[in-house]
Amino acid sequence: MLQVVWFKRDLRTQDNAALTAALNAGPTLCIYVLEPEYWQLPDTSNRQWMFIRESLLDLHQDLMSKNGGLQWYAGSVIDVLETIQKEHGEFALHSHEETGNLWTYQRDKNVKKWCQQQGVHWQEYRQFSVTRALNNRDAWASTWKKNMEQPVVVLPKNGVFSWLNHTQPAQDLPHSVSHDPTPCLGRQRGGRKLALSVFESFLTLRGETYRGSISSPITAESACSRLSPYLAYGCLSMRELYQTLQQHQQSASGRWKASLSAFESRLWWHCHFIQKLEDEPQMEMNNLHPATNHLNRIMNEEFFSAWQHGRTGWPMVDACMRYLQHYGWINFRMRAMLVSVASFPLWLPWQPVSHWLASLFTDYEPGIHYPQVQMQAGTTGINIPRMYNPITQAQKCDPSGNFVRQWVPELKHVSDQWIFEPWLMSKKQQQHFGLIIGEDYPAPLVDFAQASRMARARMQHINTGEYRATAKEIGQKHGSRKRRFPRKKWPSRASKNEQQLSLF
Ligand SMILES: Cc1cc2nc3c(=O)[nH]c(=O)nc-3n(C[C@H](O)[C@H](O)[C@H](O)COP(=O)(O)OP(=O)(O)OC[C@H]3O[C@@H](n4cnc5c(N)ncnc54)[C@H](O)[C@@H]3O)c2cc1C
Repeated sequence: MLQVVWFKRDLRTQDNAALTAALNAGPTLCIYVLEPEYWQLPDTSNRQWMFIRESLLDLHQDLMSKNGGLQWYAGSVIDVLETIQKEHGEFALHSHEETGNLWTYQRDKNVKKWCQQQGVHWQEYRQFSVTRALNNRDAWASTWKKNMEQPVVVLPKNGVFSWLNHTQPAQDLPHSVSHDPTPCLGRQRGGRKLALSVFESFLTLRGETYRGSISSPITAESACSRLSPYLAYGCLSMRELYQTLQQHQQSASGRWKASLSAFESRLWWHCHFIQKLEDEPQMEMNNLHPATNHLNRIMNEEFFSAWQHGRTGWPMVDACMRYLQHYGWINFRMRAMLVSVASFPLWLPWQPVSHWLASLFTDYEPGIHYPQVQMQAGTTGINIPRMYNPITQAQKCDPSGNFVRQWVPELKHVSDQWIFEPWLMSKKQQQHFGLIIGEDYPAPLVDFAQASRMARARMQHINTGEYRATAKEIGQKHGSRKRRFPRKKWPSRASKNEQQLSLF
């Protein structure tokens, strides 16, 4: 019987359980479905598609070197499966489990129903250490390690590939498919070959300073692994990544040892976060803690638009947003700051914020993205809400001010003294540095101290006994059992708040 491998976010032949199982079972047809409806969603963009396109071409080449090839279709997955059924008759379907957004979640439910109605056996394989229909988190951490230590799967030597008639060559994959065609000039390029070389340069060169260099966007650019888009679209498997890392860890010492260990913990976080969305798909749209519905964050179009386009008047925030637009990537801390500023002083609902950021990220991974956004927006109930102060962040992460000057050229002549708070300059000083606040560069949308105080008070207002009881239940379901750091208390008094919040 024909075996069909439906490639999704697993664009590789190595350690690919779906492909291996299919080739072991019979002649195998490898397909990718370009779904036009998906590319109209607000969390998608052409930068993501271009990365996928490059990865598909690379995958096609790899399959061709094994006497196979990738066949692609445009349309709905069910229509494609019907076409295959008409042409080939009976078949079995193989793919990896996907923890996607609500649209792909519903699509997979529809495909499942179709398969059941048609008597098509659809086998899904675990992609990461994420468990479907998980009962509780108690053994989750040890399962992660066990899964990562499983041998990588190897393709059978005598596997046979199959082809359909009238297929389109991979090179004909369109360049533009998305509602958001905004170019992303500094974007990482897709494909497994590049993934391997990025990983190699991290393990042998760039990774030594990982620990200590990932908070500032200046140093993070090269000190971070930069593997995120390759993991998001499966050009590398998490298991092969983990096992290669382990080999390097054996001989590592000093800074390398600390850095590789810090990096390993991120791989664990990766699956830990995806597990949350797997368990709670509605996290894309609904607050995890229901009491945070009472926060009544209101859409302010003016604030939202200023934040989206890097014109909030807070130089570090604007620099980060513009950098992200250019590269399709920014480091963790600055992602957190962008969400925090939108969610607290600007008091915007996190849903449009998260969709906008997702569309800017080449590495958009719904399972990490939505739980992280909710965590930074303070709606999970299980994490201490952190409010990042864009001025102190700038002082710590960009002490020379050059990152801000590069990405907000309106401020390029402003001296160190005023670079992070240009609105404090007198009119005369503004003229001296060649700009007028409110004309050439905006004044801050709100007074940060005052708006943050108000946000803290609103957060505090919902922090009742009932809130904490629900939070405990949420923690039981979604929280990590692995305590890397001593538990901090939810700030309950104003002074503690100030302390907690001024840390960031
Ligand atoms: C609001 C917000 C949204 C985010 N959205 C995404 C997203 O859509 N896709 C995405 O891959 N990451 C996301 N992250 C997590 C993190 O910022 C990125 O994984 C990281 O910046 C990617 O760069 P890197 O591969 O060089 O990371 P490294 O630091 O080298 O980490 C290696 C890998 O570990 C995982 N990882 C690292 N940090 C985290 C984290 N905090 N939580 C979970 N996994 C982590 C990622 O898979 C990453 O590729 C988000 C973080 C925040 C605060």
